[in-house]
Amino acid sequence: MKKILMSLVIMVLAIVSCKSDKQTDQKFLTIENIDSSIKPTDNFYMFVNGNWYNKTVIAPTESSAGAFLDIYNRTKENLKTIFVDLAKESHKEGTVEQQVADFYASGMDTVTIDKLGYEPVKPYLTKIEAITDTKSLMDVVSTNQTQYLTSFVGLWISADEKNSSMNLPSFYQTGLGLPDRDYYFKTDAATSNVVNAYQTYINKLFQLTGSDATTAAKNVELVYNLEKQIAAAHLTNVELRDPQANYHKMAVADLNKSMPNIGWTTMLSQMKIKTDSVNISQPKHYENINSLLSSTPISTWQLYLKARLLTQIADDLSSDFVNASFDYNGKALSGKKQLKPRWERVIQTTDNTLNEALGQLYVKKYFNAEAKSRMLELIDNLQKAFEKRIDHLDWMSADTKVKAKEKLYTFIKKVGYPDKWRDYSKVVIKKDQYFNNLISASENEYNFQVSKVGQAVDRTEWGMTPSTVNAYYNPTFNEIVFPAGILQFPFFDPNADDAINYGGIGMVIGHEMTHGFDDQGAQYDKDGNLKNWWTKEDEAKFKEKGKAVINLYNGFTVLDTVHVNGALTLGENIADIGGIAIAYDAFKLTKQGKDTVKIDGFTPDQRFFMSYAQIWRAKLKDEVVRQRINTDPHSPPSYRVMAPLMNFEPFYKAFNVKEGDKMFIVEKDRIKIW
Ligand SMILES: [Zn+2]
Repeated sequence: MKKILMSLVIMVLAIVSCKSDKQTDQKFLTIENIDSSIKPTDNFYMFVNGNWYNKTVIAPTESSAGAFLDIYNRTKENLKTIFVDLAKESHKEGTVEQQVADFYASGMDTVTIDKLGYEPVKPYLTKIEAITDTKSLMDVVSTNQTQYLTSFVGLWISADEKNSSMNLPSFYQTGLGLPDRDYYFKTDAATSNVVNAYQTYINKLFQLTGSDATTAAKNVELVYNLEKQIAAAHLTNVELRDPQANYHKMAVADLNKSMPNIGWTTMLSQMKIKTDSVNISQPKHYENINSLLSSTPISTWQLYLKARLLTQIADDLSSDFVNASFDYNGKALSGKKQLKPRWERVIQTTDNTLNEALGQLYVKKYFNAEAKSRMLELIDNLQKAFEKRIDHLDWMSADTKVKAKEKLYTFIKKVGYPDKWRDYSKVVIKKDQYFNNLISASENEYNFQVSKVGQAVDRTEWGMTPSTVNAYYNPTFNEIVFPAGILQFPFFDPNADDAINYGGIGMVIGHEMTHGFDDQGAQYDKDGNLKNWWTKEDEAKFKEKGKAVINLYNGFTVLDTVHVNGALTLGENIADIGGIAIAYDAFKLTKQGKDTVKIDGFTPDQRFFMSYAQIWRAKLKDEVVRQRINTDPHSPPSYRVMAPLMNFEPFYKAFNVKEGDKMFIVEKDRIKIW
């Protein structure tokens, strides 16, 4: 999911909050959340959300609370209704109703799951134990991959970045148990706590699968040291953001010569991939693996493969494994206190596993066609507003403007759900076979992905499920995508005034559009090819503007000494700064945008900005803040609101921001890109 992950509005929402807000009184701006003791011109985010922030307690099962999580909770309740209703009837074998219902039932069958313990993974452990040399090691790595049980090989099949109408397999760096390579080398106390929790976790997994305490402790050290050697050759999150530096199309024949231990021809054949060339996204990683395969004893590799396998599967085994996983993933990494109820976790797994099968049932029951037509209208208005902004840019030449507008009008727009659904007819789902169900769905997904190799790209494909509360821009498709899940209040409500919808979902649309023109997106042309369409001078000016954005965000402190990483978050920040400006211009084209009539005591412009601050209201545990600063390309929610507004003239007018106010920036220093 690398390519798609890099362009999300927010990272995958593995986070849910306490209570959902009911919109029965038709108040689309939640006035009660305002903290009037704070000047909007000093801290607009806390002015709009302060009362909510101060009274909100993060639920023990969560790492955060906020608007995204409220919607997620509402969506989860809707999904639960689907499962409850499905359970009332019997369904014909092989229908999506049967698959979804029985998958959920199998996940809820904790009696069977607990009784089995780690029985389901024993065949995989036996295979690992039978490894005798590099060749048999690579056999296990490759065949496990066909069920998405990954170790150090990361496979992603999508459009060739330099020939975007054809699919190409890409091999990216992977194989670590900690969230990111930097965790293996940082020595601060917070990182050490996470590392200790991770080692405890692996130790527990080894003991749960038959090791005694002494052996487990010794083996954890071996695994950790190997992972650290793998991490040493990984690129940093910032280095991964450079598309050109992560594209290396190579002939398989050459790879066989340069990295013989991996045995590319055999590996590809075992992975069911027929191709002469592949993209090695990060050659350094594969070169490192190639040499580690000679220098590391097979017995250490076996331990490493066991650790990788067990960490991927722990959440789907008996409760001992689930609890061990929670101590690390839930508590240490995310600051959660308590495991979520089983049904919530199984709903999430069903969505991840039978994505569009469940998605069909979700949209049938919960998606309204009116929302889709309103959304398409909003998108069109934003596109027009964006075009005008490009026309008025004072730093860009006419030649580049023509190309930019061409790209803008080539966007594929996807709203709600796919026009055609994926095929699940080969997936076998049985009520009492949770583990096999997961494997069957994984194999179906894997086979679908590898079937694309050598084929033309199908641009109707979706990268998110319909119920997902998120959105994305995909540079190789040049598309903006808004699943049904995000088309809910406070982002969007068909009954809300335009200020609310343009400040909410309008900003999200503008944000995704701007991704087509952020420091990464701008390197892809209208057809999704990594191909420069800029004049030299314009490109240089654009890069200068990017540097100013990096400097601005580097200055924001989050926790004690932790500050935002301006280089990691550059693309998202450009998208936020552009997104709010485009949404505002589009809002000004509406009747309310031209009006001055106050609602709840606020002008249309003020409501627009308040809606923007309202969608990003969030409260996060320190643990998850630290984790995201290291790995998340998005800035923390408060800065997603504050920084763009500090640079946006109409906000200064709407709230009368003056010199001396904390949000004030001298006019010549304000950043304006798009
Ligand atoms: Zn984004």
